[in-house]
Amino acid sequence: MPRIAGRNFLFVPGPTNVPERILRAMHRAMEDHRSSAFPELTLPLFQDLKKVFKTTTGQVFLFPGTGTGGWETALTNTLSPGDRVIAPRFGQFSHLWIDLAQRIGLRVDILDVEWGEGAPVARIEEILTADRQREIKGVLIVHNETATGVTSDLAGVRRALDAAGHPALLYVDGVSSIASIDFRMDEWKVDVAVTGSQKGFMLPAGLAVVCASPKALAARERAKCARVYFDFGDMLKANPGGYFPYTPSVPMLYGLREAVDMLLEEGLESVFARHHRLAEGVRAAVKAWGLRLCARAPAWYSDTVSAIMVPEGINGADVIDVAFRRYNLALGAGLARLAGKLFRIGHLGDLNELMLAGAIAGAEMAMRDVGVKLALGAGVAAAQDHWCRTAAPLPARAAAPLSPDAQSQPGVKTTQPRSVARA
Ligand SMILES: *Cc1c(COP(=O)(O)O)cnc(C)c1O
Repeated sequence: MPRIAGRNFLFVPGPTNVPERILRAMHRAMEDHRSSAFPELTLPLFQDLKKVFKTTTGQVFLFPGTGTGGWETALTNTLSPGDRVIAPRFGQFSHLWIDLAQRIGLRVDILDVEWGEGAPVARIEEILTADRQREIKGVLIVHNETATGVTSDLAGVRRALDAAGHPALLYVDGVSSIASIDFRMDEWKVDVAVTGSQKGFMLPAGLAVVCASPKALAARERAKCARVYFDFGDMLKANPGGYFPYTPSVPMLYGLREAVDMLLEEGLESVFARHHRLAEGVRAAVKAWGLRLCARAPAWYSDTVSAIMVPEGINGADVIDVAFRRYNLALGAGLARLAGKLFRIGHLGDLNELMLAGAIAGAEMAMRDVGVKLALGAGVAAAQDHWCRTAAPLPARAAAPLSPDAQSQPGVKTTQPRSVARA
């Protein structure tokens, strides 16, 4: 393929853009992960990661792997073959997690839900209430179903467990929500939360980030699923000293350190608000195009990914192909039964209005190229309108602006702004 000039616009919902700051932080020589200095990096990192999960009692684990490895870690450390769990299925990621659970020998009661909706809270409460023998050991929820752009009501799922007075562990796939959409490990009494490095953490893929509650760690004692590399036990021996049972990826740890710093500097609540506002702009664009989202109602709308249904007679895969080859824009594909029916815009991670405006413009052009009837600029204008109307007040200026004649004044011999030169 010929070289395409300019930046690639990466708008798949993971991997996301890796900011320059993180790239620079990762660009280092390798070092001895058993040195006496290494815990200076790792111990504060474990502490600060708890803030991202909003937990004080949970324990964070960093495994080499991706979200999928995190799924396996969560289940094998806390359950035994033959254990019964319930899992709603409403998209490709919830489907794959269920498949993994079945393959490690769990009995999964699958609650099939229309793709485009989220976890069925009332049904979950009914099933748990009916389970008088307390046979169900776990409830598996994908917080943000990346395939359909649907966010589930986790607080509601917790209320369902509590209303049923059921002791099952709550497992959450937060791969495309944690660090982008509000997630509250302690408040929602989540027992194991899973994420990966390549989404909200703005890093390359390579780390499974898993957080376990004290209740989950206690369940470990009787959990019989086979596990070796992903065993919490080996981590629990090495991590308190700041070490790992095997060689960790040093650049990933430095990158994660920088990512957590960036998230905490911006403030988690501001990060969530930014994602929401950017997502609202995308949704305004979709409306202006006369298209609809896969998510069936506003209650399900995801602030990290929008799955946009293409009109009848148009193949979503063609939109994605033209966007990529002609405009250097990477959009997400429709997965499994949604293949061809939609394309996805990932809007999570290190992102601002103008970056996203580029993606909306590119999607618009690619759609027009493949025959979707729309007015160029309509989506971009709708997003702009939303963002202008909801822009934060400008912060006060740090310094007076440079007056146009400052450089030409004979008395000023420096090229610095006047205020600085005279200080
Ligand atoms: C990306 C993603 C995953 C994990 O995928 P990996 O490729 O293994 O990192 C799991 N669940 C959701 C919701 C995701 O978005």
